[in-house]
Amino acid sequence: MAALGVRGVNSGWTQALAGWATGLVRDYGAVQNDATMESLNRFRWAIWVMIPLHMFFAWEFGQYRIHAGQEAWTTWSRTISLSHEVMAMVLMIIGTFIILYVPANRPAKALAYALQMALTGGYLVLGAVLTLADLRVGAGAGIATYLLASIVISVVSLIRPEIYLPLFFVVYAFFDHALRRLGLDAVQLDGVRLLSMSVPVMSAVASWTVWQQYVKATLLQRQLSARNAELQYLAQHDMLTGLFNRRHFTHEAQAELARAARAHRPTSILIADVDFFKKINDRYGHPVGDAVLQQVAKIFSDCVRTTDVVARLGGEEFIVLMPNTGQAGAMALAQKLRAALELHPLQVAPHVIPVTMSVGVSELAAGCSGAFEAVYAAADQALYSAKALGRNRVEWGVLLAPAAPQHYHGPQ
Ligand code: GH3
Ligand code: MG
Ligand code: MG
Repeated sequence: MAALGVRGVNSGWTQALAGWATGLVRDYGAVQNDATMESLNRFRWAIWVMIPLHMFFAWEFGQYRIHAGQEAWTTWSRTISLSHEVMAMVLMIIGTFIILYVPANRPAKALAYALQMALTGGYLVLGAVLTLADLRVGAGAGIATYLLASIVISVVSLIRPEIYLPLFFVVYAFFDHALRRLGLDAVQLDGVRLLSMSVPVMSAVASWTVWQQYVKATLLQRQLSARNAELQYLAQHDMLTGLFNRRHFTHEAQAELARAARAHRPTSILIADVDFFKKINDRYGHPVGDAVLQQVAKIFSDCVRTTDVVARLGGEEFIVLMPNTGQAGAMALAQKLRAALELHPLQVAPHVIPVTMSVGVSELAAGCSGAFEAVYAAADQALYSAKALGRNRVEWGVLLAPAAPQHYHGPQ
């Protein structure tokens, strides 16, 4: 029993650990693209400073005049000069690839990852080589160059730990291997080896801290954007039918009427109201009534042009804005919608429900300016007439307060 208990605890721990690791890897994968693009965008600017800097060092160290008997120093200055030369060339090549093949604001591709790795690896190796050259002749500041290069690149290049750590330890292994072949005396070698162990540890801490912060900030930013998009959708749509709501429709209609007046175009609207909808609710229940409204909404969406705007005004009332459409076109669409509903009884299993609607249509003629409210009132009046005249019909509404004709002066 005890053994079982211990095993139970163990498996609980392993599961928790595995869950944590899976979560991390999932988060890392989710931000990997953004991290690579962000790093390359940083390099995109940094290389313009780094290339001249490396060229300057290459030239500067190439200038050293070495006296006879100081061959070790000749090797030292040449190594440093050559390292900077190579780095400047590597940066030129990588920079050319970045500019030509990795456009900013596009998802990262395999090439982008490769360039990021090459840059990161390049700086780690440069730091290690410069330090080895210094240590060999006892110049410079010990392992400072290696440490500095590693920490700076860890902070600038956003690399996930499971990729960064192996990369870093390969360079460290190379450094340690070369260090032991420099011919340092035993005490100095021990000291430097001990100190250089802090390089992978410190830069791993720096890299992981920056990376973790980046992951958190990026995921939070995404959550906020998604929430914003959701809020915007909720503010503009009707939840039952997915159509626009009255608020957004009014906004769109006002904007379109203003554009139409300027462009000398007619605009029409229609208001449709399902006939005797209360009876449908009473007979089949509200959930079936809801399904009927959803199907009516679908008929509207399917029948209108993509430039038309459909919304649910509320209850069983729908409204359509028809830009660039005059009386004839608007009446035709209204009849089409009315007939579509009349000819196809709605199927809400197990019921087949015949549904009709009445429609009122109105137009703001080309060259007239007028408020949305006036056109809306005219269509509403027409709908009222359609109901009064027996329902399941379309009526035309003349603008109650005729809009003032506007003289057209051409596009402004
Ligand atoms: P009329 O032909 O004169 O338009 O009669 P009507 O019964 O369609 O009109 P009335 O205004 O009397 O009733 C509309 C009904 O619509 C009453 C209301 O309960 C129902 N309704 C409003 N919103 C919803 C909704 O979201 N879902 C459902 N199922 N019913 C709704
Ligand atoms: Mg109604
Ligand atoms: Mg009704």
